[in-house]
Amino acid sequence: MRKVFIQTYGCQMNEYDTQQMLQVLATKGFERAESPDKAHLIVINSCSVREKSENKALSQLGRFAALKKQDPSKVLAFGGCVGQTEGSKLRSRYPFLDFVFGTNNYRDLPEMISEYENQWPSAEEEDVLLPRSRPEAQAQAFITITNGCDKFCSYCIVPFTRGREYSRTPEDILKEAAALTQKGVQEIMLLGQNVNSYWGKNKQGAFTSLYDLMVLFQEESEKSLKGLKRLRYTTSHPRDFDENLARAFSELPVLCEYLHLPFQSGSDSVLRKMRRFYTADTYLKKIEMVKRYRPDIALSTDIIVGFPGETRQDFEDTLRVIKEVEFDNIYAFKYSARPYTRSEAWVDDVSFDEKADRIQELIQFQRTFGAKKYKEDIGNMVEIMLEGPSKTNAEFWTGRTRKNRVVHLPTDAQFKVGELRYTKIFDATHSWLSGELIPSGIVPLQGARRSA
Ligand code: SF4
Repeated sequence: MRKVFIQTYGCQMNEYDTQQMLQVLATKGFERAESPDKAHLIVINSCSVREKSENKALSQLGRFAALKKQDPSKVLAFGGCVGQTEGSKLRSRYPFLDFVFGTNNYRDLPEMISEYENQWPSAEEEDVLLPRSRPEAQAQAFITITNGCDKFCSYCIVPFTRGREYSRTPEDILKEAAALTQKGVQEIMLLGQNVNSYWGKNKQGAFTSLYDLMVLFQEESEKSLKGLKRLRYTTSHPRDFDENLARAFSELPVLCEYLHLPFQSGSDSVLRKMRRFYTADTYLKKIEMVKRYRPDIALSTDIIVGFPGETRQDFEDTLRVIKEVEFDNIYAFKYSARPYTRSEAWVDDVSFDEKADRIQELIQFQRTFGAKKYKEDIGNMVEIMLEGPSKTNAEFWTGRTRKNRVVHLPTDAQFKVGELRYTKIFDATHSWLSGELIPSGIVPLQGARRSA
């Protein structure tokens, strides 16, 4: 059997692309290899949104080159965002690379690998919709519904790596969802760089918004998507987050009560330079709106620290938003200039040390609010989806609540990945919960879903 190893960097969109690559390669007889030394084909699926991620991918390339030196029959490919923008430069800088491809042409992998066919064991071509190597065909899956972005925030490389925004048709999306639920998927995450600007045209030519699409998912969850229990989406732009989307959290039982809504900075002058087209106050009003419809919603966000020109006061404005919203989690990043963007030309005037200090302060500051939110679950019976043994302690398993909170609970020989169970929460930190299993068959108290 031919084996492929794909090393993925970046966000869930890249994870999804990796799954798509595996699917395309399965038609050529490839199965996923557990490690690169067991693979005939090694692929790096890179991300260039952050400089750190790009550097990691390039240093990994060096390690894979050493494997290829030991076994020259291995084929080494570099794909994803960095491949898209830096393709020819990479080929000349790393001559040991066999081929480079971008985010938009991974479907051509069968042609790209054709010249290496005779180096590998022969394979019968298969026409598979969901290959064995697609691991998420267990309980959780991603579906990309939009690709690319038209927003052109001044710091972001995505419009250059992924191109202009494109929405898939609702029919296509539902077809993929049906294939997944038939294979046992119970939780689907709808993906896009700017997923809430989704605007897909159906067969009749009518436009479908993200809200309309989720209503279709809800309706179909009893028909073609039977078995679907949880729906999520990421990532959203505050500008496109409207009242329909807020109301959906109270209206659609299948939609999990969790929202990731990046605000990036609490300073209006920084937001203007970022070309985000909202203010801190309009962001807070949208949060207020969603909490009106769903008071128990769990929220998370992205923040960029040390954007060019960010003053201490700007940074404190960011802390003020964190305090007002009370997020479950924040994902904070130090600003770094990315090629092709507007901000690349600006002086990166917040020193590395200052950025590091602000990030630390932010993380410490957030802990209080994270702990407060997580502690709200203590004493509740919550639904979790089991995800597998804990990575740090073999005596525990982890599960995830509808609010995306991780729960640790003692291992039980009967546990199965993807199973939905109820736990009683007895302890919490700022980033995880401790629970004990409620025996199957015990019906959760009324309202258990709302506290999950
Ligand atoms: S909306 Fe998001 S993906 Fe689009 S340019 Fe801005 S940061 Fe990048």
